[in-house]
Amino acid sequence: MPLMKRAHLVISRRTLLAGTGAALSAGLLPLPALKADNQQSWDLIVIGGGTAGMPTALFAAQRSKRVLIIEKAAILGGTLDRSTGQVAAAGTVFQDAKSIDDTPDAHYDDIMRINEGTSDPALTRLFVDNAGESLNWLAANGYQVRPEHPVTGSGHDHFRTPRYQWGMKNGWSIYEAMAPLVAQAEAAGRITVQLNTSAVGLMQDGSGSVTGVVSESADGSRRDYRARQVVLASGGCASNPAMYEELHGVPLYCQIAHPNSQGIGLTLGLSAGGYLRGGDKYAALPGAILTEAKFPSPPTAISSLNPDLRAPWEVLVNANGERFVQEDHPSMNHIEHAIGKQPGHRHWAIFDQAILDTAPPLVPDWTAQQVMDACDTHPMFFSADSLGSLGVKAGLNPRKLAASIEAYNAARENNRPDPFGLKHRPLPIANGPYYAVQMQGWTVISFAGLSVNTRLQVMQANGEPVQNLYAVGEVIGAGATSGRAYTNGMLVTPGITFGRLLGQQILKFS
Ligand SMILES: Cc1cc2nc3c(=O)[nH]c(=O)nc-3n(C[C@H](O)[C@H](O)[C@H](O)COP(=O)(O)OP(=O)(O)OC[C@H]3O[C@@H](n4cnc5c(N)ncnc54)[C@H](O)[C@@H]3O)c2cc1C
Repeated sequence: MPLMKRAHLVISRRTLLAGTGAALSAGLLPLPALKADNQQSWDLIVIGGGTAGMPTALFAAQRSKRVLIIEKAAILGGTLDRSTGQVAAAGTVFQDAKSIDDTPDAHYDDIMRINEGTSDPALTRLFVDNAGESLNWLAANGYQVRPEHPVTGSGHDHFRTPRYQWGMKNGWSIYEAMAPLVAQAEAAGRITVQLNTSAVGLMQDGSGSVTGVVSESADGSRRDYRARQVVLASGGCASNPAMYEELHGVPLYCQIAHPNSQGIGLTLGLSAGGYLRGGDKYAALPGAILTEAKFPSPPTAISSLNPDLRAPWEVLVNANGERFVQEDHPSMNHIEHAIGKQPGHRHWAIFDQAILDTAPPLVPDWTAQQVMDACDTHPMFFSADSLGSLGVKAGLNPRKLAASIEAYNAARENNRPDPFGLKHRPLPIANGPYYAVQMQGWTVISFAGLSVNTRLQVMQANGEPVQNLYAVGEVIGAGATSGRAYTNGMLVTPGITFGRLLGQQILKFS
């Protein structure tokens, strides 16, 4: 049975070796035995100097002078170069400034309400109890949020209390707070940063304890770095289509993640005895208009399907030409999960000329003329004089498409409830030309990741930790912290918080 068909997807090195195909082996298995000619010894090696790796190294460097960051890219920061950087915490200076009362308990309850209890309860608890201090540390180092923040939400299901914010430069605002601290620690000789260097293997002793990292420089030369402790902070696998599909059972539809999100941390964790979980928590974001009809493909644009931000004027159908969701349902999770159940996670917005001419743009910032022109040039835009012809052109069942629109129009015209409960239906879809915009469910993050305990140690399937090996950030999987949902800020904030805790409290330097 293919791995992804299992109800609870748990992948260990044994599973990989025993039962998977060549594509997975190529993507996930560790490199063959590594020989290196040079050795250095460190208290701590952090693999990946991004969102989670930077705070890990910074706080560890307050307690040890022998901290090494191995970073594949030419600069630190990782995904903060593109992340929206939305973060959430209770007990922050940003809340204090607006006299917002909040508690970690209320934050925990909100997270579990939004993701329906699907994030790891122990990690979620650890997170909420420490997230406020993490954001306050950023604030003390110059991180500022937008003047109207904190808010209850934006784009995803809302919290009940305003505790959600982001900086003027999105994720880069967080980078700008942390990067000078790393530079200072480097200048003081407390952190060493090895850029343009990839971790390619872990060293282990006979008992399985991790003893160091094998790295490869841009020129291909290899080097052993011995370490008492190693932290995997190399991000997820959302730029590795083969690995992504194997672990989630869903193609990587859209490629937006950091190019180094190749899943090396997953491979290294598995090679040391860890196991993966969380791929079954995959959730699709709505509305990506892909540039090409192949995966992965960059999006031309992301349609505005969030009723919070734009009330829908169009109806959504699946490949059968059938509607499947209340387009203005108050929960974005509900809409996302409904899209996740449609064939190929594809969905089409259907509308007519009057809607195109009257409604606020479905494709942000596009004029009606641009949409009309795209029907001649772009593979995801279609128009026709009748619904039947539109269905044929767009690859939808024409008869069912016509029936779906007829039912929508009839209920609206007779002031009856919409078959799917849609409340916002200002115009009928009644006069050609008719339009269809094909969209794809998509994501930018890995839900699968290494299993860790609340000490952030990489766990083996037998319940024992891999000695000296820890993991923070997306390498532990969005499923662990965000659950089967896009829970506000539940990747960046846990990445920073768990990195801080590891460096500050958990790692031992005696
Ligand atoms: C477009 C976009 C928007 C997002 N918006 C949000 C949001 O608003 N809120 C939220 O919570 N989450 C968001 N996310 C997710 C979140 O930003 C990421 O999950 C998080 O930043 C990942 O942090 P990380 O430290 O695990 O990885 P990264 O920040 O990517 O850092 C990993 C580092 O490891 C390095 N690396 C990789 N391989 C190796 C190797 N072999 N050797 C050495 N170094 C290596 C990389 O170069 C990189 O610097 C978003 C993601 C994207 C792509």
